[in-house]
Amino acid sequence: MALIVQKFGGTSVGSIEKIQNAANRVIEEAERGNQVVVVVSAMGKTTDELVSMAKEISAAPSKREMDMLLSTGEQVTISYLTMALLAKGYDAVSYTGWQAGISTEAVHSNARISDIETARVKAALEAGKIVVVAGFQGVDADGEITTLGRGGSDTTAVALASALHADRCDIYTDVTGVYTTDPRYIKGARKLLSVSYDEMLELANLGAGVLHPRAVEFAKNYQIQLEVRSSMEQEKGTIIEEEASMEQNLIVRGIAFEDRITRVTIFGLSGNIGTLSTIFTTLAKNRINVDIIIQSMTDTDSINLTFSIKSNDVEEALNVLEKNKNNLPFDRVETESGLSKVSIVGSGMVSNPGVAAEMFECMAQNGIVIKMVSTSEIKVSTVVDQKDMVKAVEALHEAFRLDEPAQVKA
Ligand code: ADP
Ligand code: ASP
Ligand code: MG
Repeated sequence: MALIVQKFGGTSVGSIEKIQNAANRVIEEAERGNQVVVVVSAMGKTTDELVSMAKEISAAPSKREMDMLLSTGEQVTISYLTMALLAKGYDAVSYTGWQAGISTEAVHSNARISDIETARVKAALEAGKIVVVAGFQGVDADGEITTLGRGGSDTTAVALASALHADRCDIYTDVTGVYTTDPRYIKGARKLLSVSYDEMLELANLGAGVLHPRAVEFAKNYQIQLEVRSSMEQEKGTIIEEEASMEQNLIVRGIAFEDRITRVTIFGLSGNIGTLSTIFTTLAKNRINVDIIIQSMTDTDSINLTFSIKSNDVEEALNVLEKNKNNLPFDRVETESGLSKVSIVGSGMVSNPGVAAEMFECMAQNGIVIKMVSTSEIKVSTVVDQKDMVKAVEALHEAFRLDEPAQVKA
């Protein structure tokens, strides 16, 4: 008998009809004689709606109260899904994150899972029940409700799969797998047979919202094979595993993109040895994630520093810099908003020089100005004007021939 973890995202449980459909997918697994743990998200756009109602009350609502609020979304789904399973004649029980033993660090709105005490879930499975767990939520050491960051139900599923030594973790969603790029934006996007953990981690971190980056991190660390697949269609999805082996090693596997990026430039910093560390330690202490960093020396021995951040963090970043102006004297700060990041990802890049050059050439030919660049072994990221984002992705998708049918190795 195998133990399977299944996760259903928001759209896949967005109505009672969809919940019935999810229940049927759960029952298919149970009928094969498997033990099943199901992780679910809040129904449809519930989380977004709860956030926007809170913003009507306060521009910056208390993070503790936000977690209290948002955790209710998933709690609705677990009860409906469990009722559906019971009504169809299958024994099932629902648990909130804390009932399922999910402990997190003491951080509101973006907590990491620190431990899972599986006794209660295991006992229910042993008793022959299907266990339905609320995604995206946990509890810290003081008993406070925490949430795992937007999209965090994926992480609940993978973490549970790891703690329970599950045989499989299937992520059911509203697309049939992981595509070469977001199929909602790019017509020629093609479903991939498999993607490596490292490639998926880059894609997820660079904006491919199909999986929560921490879920991929967990899967890689604990070697859990994931399959991303459709909750509506009965077709094979995409396997995420150590080595993406089934397709001929594409140099570029996928393209990720993200909008709402802002470029911040600090002019006239002192050229002291500790300047960079002071700035970035200060920003990190305030939980501001800095992405691409460019430092340039001027003739007068001072430094100009440019970095990109998410536009949501700009106000806070500027406040932090202003507050600490005495420790890190600088002349002035300028920002440019309305930017996007477009990145190509593929493990074949390590051994193929010239991929970045090809990317830049393609963008130049399409008249797209590149404002910032960063590279790693398996990705190249560029920052461009928001208005050029989709055009850049389309051009790169074609230039790297990602729309061509996969060559499957024998
Ligand atoms: P769920 O509610 O099931 O968690 P999400 O909305 O979080 O679903 O993730 C699925 C969405 O991810 C798709 O609808 C698609 O628009 C988006 N997406 C972004 N990049 C990709 C990609 N490379 N492949 C597939 N989907 C992608
Ligand atoms: N409901 C949460 C969100 O919308 C978590 C999730 O769906 O994974 O972000
Ligand atoms: Mg999601």
